[in-house]
Amino acid sequence: MTTHALADERARSTAEHIALTETFTAHNYHPLPVVLAHGEGAWVTDVEGRRYLDCLAGYSALNFGHGHPRLLARAHAQLDALTLTSRAFHHDRFGPFLEAITALTGKEAALPMNSGAEAVETALKIARRWGHEVKGVAPDRGRIVTMGGNFHGRTTTIISFSTDEVARSGFGPYTSGFVTVPYGDLDALTAALTDDVVAVLLEPIQGEGGVVIPPAGYLAGVRAACDAAGVLMMADEIQSGLARTGELFACDHEGVVPDVYILGKALGGGLLPVSAVLADRDVMDVITPGSHGSTFGGNPLSCAVAHEVVDILATGEMQERARTLGARLDAGLTGLVGEGVLASRCRGLWAGVDIDPRRLSGRAMSERLLARGVLAKETHGSTIRLAPPLVATEDDVDLLVAAFADALAEA
Ligand SMILES: *Cc1c(COP(=O)(O)O)cnc(C)c1O
Repeated sequence: MTTHALADERARSTAEHIALTETFTAHNYHPLPVVLAHGEGAWVTDVEGRRYLDCLAGYSALNFGHGHPRLLARAHAQLDALTLTSRAFHHDRFGPFLEAITALTGKEAALPMNSGAEAVETALKIARRWGHEVKGVAPDRGRIVTMGGNFHGRTTTIISFSTDEVARSGFGPYTSGFVTVPYGDLDALTAALTDDVVAVLLEPIQGEGGVVIPPAGYLAGVRAACDAAGVLMMADEIQSGLARTGELFACDHEGVVPDVYILGKALGGGLLPVSAVLADRDVMDVITPGSHGSTFGGNPLSCAVAHEVVDILATGEMQERARTLGARLDAGLTGLVGEGVLASRCRGLWAGVDIDPRRLSGRAMSERLLARGVLAKETHGSTIRLAPPLVATEDDVDLLVAAFADALAEA
């Protein structure tokens, strides 16, 4: 029965899979016409046996590639031991994971959740409580400053402060208590830090926004402004963190330590959703028994995999790979400016490439890359985001740049 079902899956063509999907799911994505069936390292294979270099890597959830042997081994072992307990009981994977991730990040405490959006929600709740209990803002009056062009997830509260109308429109009534300022504008931020503000929430680099890197000195300026106003600086490092930019955190490039780190994506090693909020005790301890939780947050399987992720990151090898491969990618893409590329922004192995929209759309570029064996996707309009797994090789990076050049040159 199982074998038969499996054989049946193999027999379906790309077109058949897409037809099935379109028929039976909500139309909340517009994927490229490729149906993947296998992945190893930086490479994936589709149902027709074609191979592609995965240059999106699960939006950085696959920083360590598909099926990293250490992560698979850890997951397999934990599957046989214990996968889930009720949070009503302790389990033996929790403490060791917490000890490791706090040592890696330098924060005193971690609160694990599942999806990135849940971790952002958790941070917002912590900030609001902290604002009242520690800062002394009137109950339920604390406001949080967010950035134009942000992306923090899809919950009703989070989209309430999205500036992307496609993400927001039609989903009101919206959650109040948020103020938005232009990203990268320190004067606007400082002016927004009124007495009732409890926190600033920002991405140190806006991934979904098109790998937008703020002006040099901005993050340090945000840190100073938060200190002066007595508000929490909360860095959403869900996409920018965990070695992608060549450092553990994107904030590290300016030597900035926020009060709260929000992690997700790569924390689950591409195997399962694991997210976390990290903060020191004076902030984290506003969360008390019963005031927050999650059935799956911090489960044994997640902790085992995320612990292995932490151990991989602790060697610094992935950060180093992001730096050297990123320099190579940056050089290659910079060479294409004027050849159909308007601008390219690179930080570590992470690039936002603005295609000249008079030449072709972002979607058309993604399709041309697909035809050349490279998986990438436009983010906003004509910006292509490139984020290959950090286990990619120099040859992979060269292949990506060559495919990019060739796609641009197509008549
Ligand atoms: C992906 C992402 C999120 C949301 O994570 P989900 O796991 O999709 O809920 C939040 N913030 C940033 C910066 C992200 O890139």
